[in-house]
Amino acid sequence: MAEAIISLEGVTKDYGAPPRQVHALRSVDLEVAEAEFVVLLGPSGSGKTTLLNVLGGIEAPTSGTVTVAGRRVEALEEEDRSEFRRNSVGFVFQFFNLVPTLTAGENVQLIAELRPTLGDAADRTHTVLAGLGLEDLTERYPMQLSGGQQQRVAVARALVNQARVLLCDEPTGALDLETGRSILDLLQRAQRETGTTVVMVTHNSAIAKMADRVLNMRSGEIVGDRRVESPVSAAEVSW
Ligand code: ADP
Ligand code: MG
Repeated sequence: MAEAIISLEGVTKDYGAPPRQVHALRSVDLEVAEAEFVVLLGPSGSGKTTLLNVLGGIEAPTSGTVTVAGRRVEALEEEDRSEFRRNSVGFVFQFFNLVPTLTAGENVQLIAELRPTLGDAADRTHTVLAGLGLEDLTERYPMQLSGGQQQRVAVARALVNQARVLLCDEPTGALDLETGRSILDLLQRAQRETGTTVVMVTHNSAIAKMADRVLNMRSGEIVGDRRVESPVSAAEVSW
C-alpha cells in the first residue's frame, strides 16, 4: 500500500448527553492510501456524513486521532483548521451548495482566492472550469444551471485549490443516471490524472464498482472493508 494520506485511530463521535446520547462513530480505525478511490456505503444514520466531517475538520471527534495529508486534524487550533479546510480538502455535497447570488465563475474564484500562493485566482478558475468543459457556463447564476451543471461547478470549486483529498457526500444523490455518471467521471479523472484521493459516500451499491475499495458502515462502525479487483470506469456504472 502506498503511503497513507488518511489515518484514523480510535475515532469516536458522540452527540448530545445521556440519556439521549447518540454514538455517531464508535471507535473507527482506518487507513487510506494516497490516490485511492474509496466508497463508503451504509444505511441512513450509520455515521457516513459524520465520518466525512471529521476527516475534513468540520467537526471535532469526541476521542481518537485524525491524520489527513500529514496534519493532525483534531489537534489543530481553529485558525490552522480553517487553513487545512481551505487547502488540503475539497468537499462535494449532495445539493451542490453554490452561492446563489454569485455566478458559476465567481463561486469557483471565491474559493481560488483563498489560496493566492497557487497563482492568479481568475486564471486558475478559468483553467479548472475549461478543464471540466464549463467555460460557456461561467457567467450563469446557479439557478440558470441544471442540477448536473451545478454539481460540475461544485466539483470545479472542490478542485481549484488542488486539494489532495476530495470528500464527497452522495454527490450523485440528486441526479439522474447519466448526469450522475458524468460527475463520477470527473471524480475518477481527478483520481487517475492527478492522484487525488477520493472518499465518496453513496447509498448506491452499484457505484461501488468504480472504487478501489469499499467500506461498509453500520451504527457508527466500519463493518466491512474490501478491495475491488478491477474497478470499472465511471461510464460503465449503471443503477
Ligand atoms: P449518515 O450520513 O450515515 O446518514 P450521519 O453521520 O449523518 O449518518 O448521522 C449519524 C448519527 O448521528 C445519526 O443517528 C444522526 O441522527 C446523528 N447526528 C448527526 N449529526 C448530528 C447532530 N449535529 N446532532 C445530533 N445528532 C446528530
Ligand atoms: Mg449522510
